[in-house]
Amino acid sequence: MAAYQFQTEVSQLLELITHSLYSHKEVFLRELVSNASDAIDKLNYLTVSDDAYKTFSFQPRITVKLDEDARTIIVSDNGIGMDQTELADNLGTIARSGTRAFLERLGEQDRKASNLIGQFGVGFYSAFMVADQIEVISRKPGSEQAWLWKSDGKSGFDIEPAIRDGHGTDVVLHINENGTEFLSRWTLEDLLRRYSNHIAWPIHLVTREKTYAKDPSKAETKVVDEQVNAASALWRRPKSELSAQDYIDFYKSLTGDDREPLFWIHTHAEGTIEYSSLLYIPSHVPADLYIPTREQGIKLYIKRVFITDRELQILPPYFRFVRGVIESDDLPLNVSREMLQHNRVLTTIQQATLKKLFSELEQLSTANPEKFARFVSLFNPQIKEGIVSDWTNREQLLKLVRYKSTMVDGWTSLADYKSRAGEQRKAIFYLSGDNEERLRQSPLLEAYTKQGIEVLLGTDEIDELAFAGIGEYEGLALKSVQQADSDEVLDKLDADLSARGEKAAAILARILGERVKSVRISRRLGQSPSCLVIEKDEPTPQYRRLMERLTDEPLPPSKPILEINPSHHLIEKLVTLDTRRELTNGAIEVVQQLEDLSLIILYEAMLAEGDHFEVPADFTERLNRLLSRALA
Ligand code: ADP
Repeated sequence: MAAYQFQTEVSQLLELITHSLYSHKEVFLRELVSNASDAIDKLNYLTVSDDAYKTFSFQPRITVKLDEDARTIIVSDNGIGMDQTELADNLGTIARSGTRAFLERLGEQDRKASNLIGQFGVGFYSAFMVADQIEVISRKPGSEQAWLWKSDGKSGFDIEPAIRDGHGTDVVLHINENGTEFLSRWTLEDLLRRYSNHIAWPIHLVTREKTYAKDPSKAETKVVDEQVNAASALWRRPKSELSAQDYIDFYKSLTGDDREPLFWIHTHAEGTIEYSSLLYIPSHVPADLYIPTREQGIKLYIKRVFITDRELQILPPYFRFVRGVIESDDLPLNVSREMLQHNRVLTTIQQATLKKLFSELEQLSTANPEKFARFVSLFNPQIKEGIVSDWTNREQLLKLVRYKSTMVDGWTSLADYKSRAGEQRKAIFYLSGDNEERLRQSPLLEAYTKQGIEVLLGTDEIDELAFAGIGEYEGLALKSVQQADSDEVLDKLDADLSARGEKAAAILARILGERVKSVRISRRLGQSPSCLVIEKDEPTPQYRRLMERLTDEPLPPSKPILEINPSHHLIEKLVTLDTRRELTNGAIEVVQQLEDLSLIILYEAMLAEGDHFEVPADFTERLNRLLSRALA
């Protein structure tokens, strides 16, 4: 029985790793090498930022040592090391809330999770896919005492005092049956070159090789020690030296994502402030994009020292899907990370980086519309998030945002809407909801379509907020076709239709009573008898839902306005029925029919708005009664 128990989440994770994430076993090596590299980064940072370490010097080095006979792989570093408590905390719990949140979600889609493993820093534990016993021997700089952590990855772990030469950490893997394929020099070398080539510190592969001899008993073994990575900071190298494959490989080793990035932006800025930046746009939506504690994806280096990828906000939060590296020699090394956030040089670099990102995206939209369309389908919601949150960069964001439209296929921009709308039009009309197909069939669009007025369609949850956030675009007011006064551009009705409409509206208002705020004639409907709209200053249903979700409090209720189409035959029928009711002195049968028809007219409007209203069971009952009478 182990002396320490794993935190429950760790046990769950181990269970998952050893059972479901099986197909990508090789990630363990990348994870351990990346931990080793982080440990060296941390010590390196101390030597420049902490007075106690100023005179400390060391030659950073990562070693991967293979012993085929003993069936062990040892990943060693001379980095920051861990003491007894750190071993227990770091290798017995999952500290990062993002990872915990990830685990909670994982249940639903654990089969897809294999390529997420690196992105969520479940790192170390992945080694239990290939090892049935792991020992970690670690010693901190400045301490004489080393510690041994060991575990079978099942019940828990033990920690005891140990001996180690110098500071750093050895992770000893006792390879199990599943890991046999990794007990090969060529496999390890290939993996290290593929996944860890761009680690900034030298990685040595140490193996033992038998020399060839006719008599096998005379063969000798010799130790082969070879550096297998380039150990260069790729982002500092001139663009002309780098191939697309270099960039792709670096992205993979930086992010743990095994898909290729959508595109990247590499900059060497020269002049008063010099810096290099390499930014990547992923080719899929990162699975943790909506986890609030997610870290931003930009690593900051100063003079080759890795500073942080957490504490500093380099890009605005809506660009949190961007991954990459920024390095500058003009930033001070000896100030705290908190102080850096207010550093003028860093602010300049941040602004320039953001500007570059915007201009490259804008350029992509014309230079490579196909790729830009992919960008839009992935990250349009984040651009809209920017629109509602970042007034400073509004102009740039409005250039990038795209919508579906009733006039054109694919995505369209606000600028294109404006150019199609012509001089007279003073508004940009829009409609938002969950589902594009349903939006396209909305009765609210009929009159607009008939008159050739374009309506933008938004299906992102944030759309209602973002449309309101735009408010006005180059002199055109943004108007929801759901809000009652936006029919100002529509045709006037002739007198007969108006009179019939007034009658029908009065009948419906009488019968529907409290169910609606009011009933009025619409000029926007073509095929449909009715639709629901809301008052100009009232929240649309989408907006209401979003706000209720964000604030967790219901908004005060508001009733919809029922608009009716006077030229629709059901409305005509309604008026005829009401005349019959008067003539028959309110015959029960006629009254019933009139009520059924009125409610069906309301329910149909709710149905067309299906995203937001639930149609009562009463609907079918009334429909069936009317139908059977009609068919009798
Ligand atoms: P992550 O690296 O994503 O934080 P891991 O499970 O791989 O997650 O590691 C947990 C923690 O253990 C690390 O954050 C680090 O503090 C510590 N750790 C792991 N490997 C080493 C190492 N080689 N040297 C020092 N600390 C390490």
